[in-house]
Order: sequence, then C-alpha cells, then structure tokens
Amino acid sequence: MLSLVAVGSQGLNVGVSSVTTPRAAPKMEAAATVTPLPASVKAGVVTGEALWDLLEHAKANKYAIPAVNVVSSCSISACLEAAKEYKGPMIVQFSRGGGQFIAGKAANNDGDAACIAGCVAGALHTRAVAELYGVPVILHTDHCMRSWLPWFDGLLDANEKYFETNGEPLFSSHMLDLSEEPIEENIATCVDYLTRMSKVNLLLEMELGVTGGEEDGVDNSDVDSSKLYTQPEEVYEVYKALSKVEGGRFTIAAAFGNVHGVYAPGNVELTPEILHNCQKYIKEQESLDIDKPCSFVFHGGSGSSREDIRYAIEAGTIKMNIDTDTQWSFWDGIREYEAKFRPFLQGQIGNPEGETKPNKKYYDPRMPLRSGEQSMAKRLCEAAEDLNCINVL
Ligand SMILES: [Zn+2]
Repeated sequence: MLSLVAVGSQGLNVGVSSVTTPRAAPKMEAAATVTPLPASVKAGVVTGEALWDLLEHAKANKYAIPAVNVVSSCSISACLEAAKEYKGPMIVQFSRGGGQFIAGKAANNDGDAACIAGCVAGALHTRAVAELYGVPVILHTDHCMRSWLPWFDGLLDANEKYFETNGEPLFSSHMLDLSEEPIEENIATCVDYLTRMSKVNLLLEMELGVTGGEEDGVDNSDVDSSKLYTQPEEVYEVYKALSKVEGGRFTIAAAFGNVHGVYAPGNVELTPEILHNCQKYIKEQESLDIDKPCSFVFHGGSGSSREDIRYAIEAGTIKMNIDTDTQWSFWDGIREYEAKFRPFLQGQIGNPEGETKPNKKYYDPRMPLRSGEQSMAKRLCEAAEDLNCINVL
C-alpha cells in the first residue's frame, strides 16, 4: 500500500520492499464529506491561528489527529510518510526522554540541556522537511510534571527566541501534566504558563485525572482507580480558568479510564461518555450556543477499540496519542528484516550464495531502519483510519 522505494545511495535494493507485515493494509476509505480546510492551514508546520483552525476543522469534521512520540529522524520520516499516504495532518511529538535520545545519550544533560537541545533539534529537522510531504504538521511535546519544568522552561525560551526572528513559535504546542497534584495547584500553574505561552501563540495541553499505565519512565500503574475518571465539574474549573487567559488556547487530556501501554483485554474500562458529559455540563453552566466547548486529547490510545475511539471523537476529541503500538511496529519491521535476511547478516563476507560474497548491501543500517519506517508508517495509516483522519485535507 505504501510506496515502496529502493533505499541506499548505491541503488542497492535487496528487497526490503517485499517484507510484509501480518497486519492487513487499511482500506483507506474516505471519511464522509469533509469541509474545505481553512486557508490558513498549509503544508508544513502549523502554529498559532492556523493550528487552532486545524483543530477546529478536526472537531467539526469529527476526526482526531494522531500524535506520535518520535525518537529519531527515522520515526519522524515514518510519521510524515504516513500522513502523506493517508492525506491528513500529523502531530510529531517529543517526550523529554525522546529529546534526550535525539541529542545523544552521551551528551551533557546538566539542567536538562540535552533534553531541551534534542527536542529543539527534532523540531528544526521536522521544519526543514515537513513541507516536502505536502501535509500540515503540528510540533508538540508530551507529559511534563513539575520536577521536569526546567525542560519546559528551556523549550519556552527556544520558542520565544524563534518567535523574535520568525513571528511564530518553534513548536506548535506543549503539554503540562500536573495531574498528580491537587487540582487548584494544577490549574494555577497552567494559568501561569498559558499566560506566558499565549504571548508567542503557543497552545497548552493540560491533563486532568491520571492516565494509567507506564510511559517514558513514569509509572502510574498502581494509581487509585478513582483518579482514572475525571468529573465534569473538574473539567469546568479548568475551562473557566484557562478561558480567562488573554489569547490563551488550550486542550484538555481528561482521564476516562485510558492507560498508557497495551494490556490484556478486560484490564481497562474506557468510559468516553465522561467526555460527552463534560461538554454538556459546560454548555449548560455557561449557557453556550456551541455543543462542544472543550477540545479533548486522548492519551493511551494504543490498543483501544475503534468504537471507543470514535465515541471519544464524537465528544470533541481532536488528538490521540499513539506510542506503544508505533514502538512495536518500528521494531516489528526491523525484526522482519532480520528474519528474512538472517543468513546474509552473520558476517561481512559469506552468505548462502557463496563464501566470498560480500554482505554490505544487507547490513547497511538504512536497510533495517527503512524496514522499521515502512512498518511504522503502515501502522500509522491504520491508526488514521481509526481516527477518521483519512483524506481530510
Ligand atoms: Zn500520555
């Protein structure tokens, strides 16, 4: 289904293109009629007003945009390749640990220097190539708890510097996750940060309630289960406080039983109706004309049923994070490559075709990495179908 291109500057195609994965290719059925994209939304990285217009377009047309944690130019390429294929927007997302990995694990990380530099480098890389794929791209960073705020502050410094020269921020949006704290403290800190961020047109994603499971070294797998389900009153508190920030744009990751990671069926009970109840409650409290005043983010999307995902989208979910399934798919592509060419990958010289035959074209790192990219892109096209995010441009 994806275009299968020979890799390697020497034109050596040893058949990665024929590596198949067991998952069925998505049918790429177009969503029902989609309204035209707002003129502000163009190919390449979108920020500020264009970002908001794109998110509103998603809400109005009932699709959510996949957000994928990237760790290298390979995973960035896989995201952009998938978006080009499914013809929709993409959220390229950096975690603090992913940023450090991009900078290189040996880089000095005093004061989160490598975590900051790696995210900035990844954002600049994405900016340099995104337009070539012809799709709108959102640059975002993932969970940030209070003890990680030096990382967040460093990213905001980088945005402000970029804004001075370019009139827009380097990233599109950032997430603060102070959901472990009392709600008053969570909201107060979000208001402070949104006040700073709105001056350079950055959007804030905040978290309420706790996403269960484990991700990027943060383990919430033993958290009190009542915290996994947000109450409408709590979402309204956030809505009221953040709406007062001048020019402030925000989304809410409200917990509705979602968890990071993939677990055996039956361990997780998703209740997307919580999100519907929140919208209804806020509409009533504020006597609003619109049905879905909030924009929600779905964390821990890996392994969720299409039914639950679509029901969450109906409730105003415009972004879904997918990490675990894309991690697996990247690895699965490499695994398959190795399994297919194992006899050619045991030494530099000598394979089943002859004991003096060179194996360079098989162990060129681009070969297994490309297989990982293709597998990940394919999985993301399936995710886009779940999210109703196909042919929406
Ligand atoms: Zn998350």
